[in-house]
Amino acid sequence: MSDNTPRTNIEQLGEFGLIDRITKSFSPRHPATVLGIGDDAAIIQSSEEQLVITSDMLLEGIHFDLAYMPLEHLGYKAVAVNISDIAAMNAIPKQITVNLGLSNRFSVEAVETLYRGIGHACENYKVDLIGGDTTSSASGLVISVTAVGAAPGNLITRRSTVQESDIVCVTGDLGGAYLGLQILAREKQVYLDTPDQQPQLDKYDYVVRRQLRPEARMDLVYELRDVGVVPTGMIDVSDGLASELFHLSKQSNVGFRIFEENIPYDQQTYETAVEFQLSPITCALNGGEDYELLFTISQADYEKIKNQADVHSIGYAQKKESGLQLATKAGQLVDLQAQGWNHFNSGDKESKT
Ligand code: ADP
Ligand code: MG
Repeated sequence: MSDNTPRTNIEQLGEFGLIDRITKSFSPRHPATVLGIGDDAAIIQSSEEQLVITSDMLLEGIHFDLAYMPLEHLGYKAVAVNISDIAAMNAIPKQITVNLGLSNRFSVEAVETLYRGIGHACENYKVDLIGGDTTSSASGLVISVTAVGAAPGNLITRRSTVQESDIVCVTGDLGGAYLGLQILAREKQVYLDTPDQQPQLDKYDYVVRRQLRPEARMDLVYELRDVGVVPTGMIDVSDGLASELFHLSKQSNVGFRIFEENIPYDQQTYETAVEFQLSPITCALNGGEDYELLFTISQADYEKIKNQADVHSIGYAQKKESGLQLATKAGQLVDLQAQGWNHFNSGDKESKT
């Protein structure tokens, strides 16, 4: 924060004053949210639908670095990564709770900035902030979000139900968030070495945004409902395509064949990867935090989704014994490793199509 920003110590307001301040602009929008913030617990009206519940905790120094992560984006991202898990169950998010650990480095204004991001995410994803907990932390910032979603039981999509010969699809593009992180880490180092030099990020706006401000792909969940398709399996891409394929493989007892030429990446991801002497495919397979959705559908459903603009079919499920294979552009079949696939060991020279 710059020096002329007002700085109110949290002790001046006290815990209850802080909670009032940061939560006063939130009011429930879902009829099922019977009672939000203010009592000992929130009240949610139960329905015929099944509930899905997920949590993600982010720790300063482990999951984010405030040297390059603006607090508003952090608030947004902490919500988005949870909404992404609800989306990966093919459910609709409804409510969130937010738990905070704050060290005395943080002012009331800093916490308000964090909650501005949380508020934007609540608006975009149409969820109600219904509670949380606030405590002091000996070191740094801790933010843990829990999200509640709902869906009819027959629409909820698991990791364990992929069938042989299903088509594998992924939304959006991959590898960008990882490269965004490389750029931010590099610029931080440049700044530490030469503080009078401003970071040059314009050229990397897309990949940096992928890292700082990821979006959960709720749009896919709604599109699939519109066209009447229920995926046979789904997972969100938080740790890289290879890792997510391994989860689906293990839990569904199937193998996969993925085609390198079909793995989607953005032009800026490609250019940034080249600058770091990395393959964009390696970044897509092993990078993380893209928060796209990886899902499988039966072949019979392919016609219904093949014209969806931002959905790419990248391969198919096969017998478990055939393993996890990447068919390279050069026509080789390479086994995917749990930690991904090392492009530089495959002998295949990168060519951008
Ligand atoms: P209790 O002492 O019963 O845990 P708190 O004083 O911690 O109650 O919380 C009061 C109200 O404020 C509760 O409704 C709680 O869910 C909500 N709340 C506390 N901290 C947060 C936070 N960081 N974000 C959102 N709501 C919060
Ligand atoms: Mg409490």
